[in-house]
Amino acid sequence: MADYLESVEQYPVRSQVKPGDILQQITRQPPEKGEPFSELFEDFKRIILPGMTHWQHPRFFAYFSANSSPPSILAEILTTTLAAQCMLWETSPAANELETRMLEWLRQLIDLPEAFTGSIQDSASSATLCALIAARERATQGQAARTGLHGHPPLTIYTSAEAHSSVEKGARIAGFGADQVRKVTVTGTGAMDPQALTQALNTDREAGLLPACVVASLGATGLGSIDPLREIGAITAEQKVFLHVDAAWAGSALILPEQRVMLGGIEFADSFVFNPHKWLFTNFDCSAFYLKNPDELVNALAIMPAYLESAAGEQMPEYRDWGVPLGRRFRALKLWFVLRSYGAERLQTMIRNHIDWAAALADNVAAHPDFELVSGPTLALIAFQLNPRGLTGPQLDIVNEELLRRINDDGRTYLTKTRAHGRTVIRLAVGQTYTEQRHVHEAWSTVTAIAAELLAPGEL
Ligand code: PLP
Repeated sequence: MADYLESVEQYPVRSQVKPGDILQQITRQPPEKGEPFSELFEDFKRIILPGMTHWQHPRFFAYFSANSSPPSILAEILTTTLAAQCMLWETSPAANELETRMLEWLRQLIDLPEAFTGSIQDSASSATLCALIAARERATQGQAARTGLHGHPPLTIYTSAEAHSSVEKGARIAGFGADQVRKVTVTGTGAMDPQALTQALNTDREAGLLPACVVASLGATGLGSIDPLREIGAITAEQKVFLHVDAAWAGSALILPEQRVMLGGIEFADSFVFNPHKWLFTNFDCSAFYLKNPDELVNALAIMPAYLESAAGEQMPEYRDWGVPLGRRFRALKLWFVLRSYGAERLQTMIRNHIDWAAALADNVAAHPDFELVSGPTLALIAFQLNPRGLTGPQLDIVNEELLRRINDDGRTYLTKTRAHGRTVIRLAVGQTYTEQRHVHEAWSTVTAIAAELLAPGEL
C-alpha cells in the first residue's frame, strides 16, 4: 500500500483497459482449492492495478476528487480489522458515540448552526433521499410513511436545472415521482433563480399541488454553481416548505472562513449534506448529513422488532433509524484520525491551496489564445473550451469531445466534461490530496500540447 502511494504517479490516471479486458482474465469457475496469498497478490498487481482508474493520482482532476489520506487509510484498516457491524449503540458503543462527537466537530469546523444534528451516511445521494423522506413526512403530517401518498395532493420538489441527479433519484425512490421534480431555471452563473422558484411554487399551489421540498445546491456538479441560499431560504420560510442543502463537494471548503458567505441563510435550512469523502481527505465513503429535526425522519423510518430492542436507545441516538440500511460501518474512526492528525489549520491550508491553484490556472486558460475560460474559478473548479478562431457551434462540441478523448487516452491527466450554455466544456477540479501546483501546471501543459496536435493542419 505504501509502495503504491509512493509510485502512483507512474500509472496512467484513467485506466487504459477496454470493456471486457478484466473479465477475460478472471476464470469463469470459482476455485476448488485455496491458493497462496502470494499468487493472489501477483494477480492483483497484474490484472487489477491496470484495470483501476487512479483516484489518488496527483493529476486526477476529473469529476470531483474522492480524496484520501494516510491517517484515513490507517483508520480504514483498523475499521475493517474490527469488522464491527455498528447498527445499534450496543453493537459498538464507541462507533456510536464517536459518530456523535465527530459530527459535532465537523459542524463547528464548517460553522453550521448548533441547531443541526448530524449522522454519517454512505453517500450524499442517501442523505438527500432521507431529506426528501423527512420533507414528505412534514408535508403529510407524518402520514405518508404509514398510509402512503394516496389521498394527498401530488407532492412537488424544486431544485435547479444544475442540481445533481441524486435529487431526482431520491424523488423516484421516496414516492414523489420524477415528474414532480421542478428544475427551476438558473441565472447566467448556473445558480437557481429565486424569482423563478417563487413562480414555480405559486403555479403549483394554484394547480392544487403540494410543494414539499426545495433542494438548494452549494457547488452543483457541472460548474460548481452556488444557489443564493438566503433568498431561497426566505421563500421556503414564507411558504413553509422544507429546505435541503446539497453541499456534497463545496461543503468541505466551508472550513475556510473566507468561503462562508455561501452559507448565509443556512438558518432557514432544515437539512444539509456534505461529503468529507470528496474533499476532506477522508476515504470514500463518508457523507455528513445534518437535520434540524431528526425526529421527522426517525418517526418515518423507526421499526422496532424484538431482535433490535436495546435499552440504550432511550439515552443515545440509534442511527439505524437515520437512514436506509440497518447495518452500519464504523465510519467515524477515519474522521477522528483525519481531524486529529491534520487539525483545522492544516486542512484549511490544503483546501486553500487547491482553490489558489485553480485560480492561477484559470488565469492561464483565460490568457491562452485558443482557449476560452467558460466558468470559474468556483472554489477549485474551472470549466474551459478549446475555442480556436473559425470554428462554431456543433464543430466546437466535436473538437472538444475529441480533445477530451485524446487527453484521457494519453493518461498523464484525467478530466471530465459537462454542458454549459448548450456547449460541451471540459471541467478541471483540483482536490486530490497529493496534488502539488506543479501537477496542475503539468496537466495544463498536457492539455495545450494535445490541443496543438489536434489543431495541426490535416487533423480535423
Ligand atoms: N451532490 C453533488 C453536488 C455532487 O457533486 C455529487 C457527486 O458528485 C452528489 C450529490 C452525489 O454524491 P454521492 O456519490 O455521495 O451520492
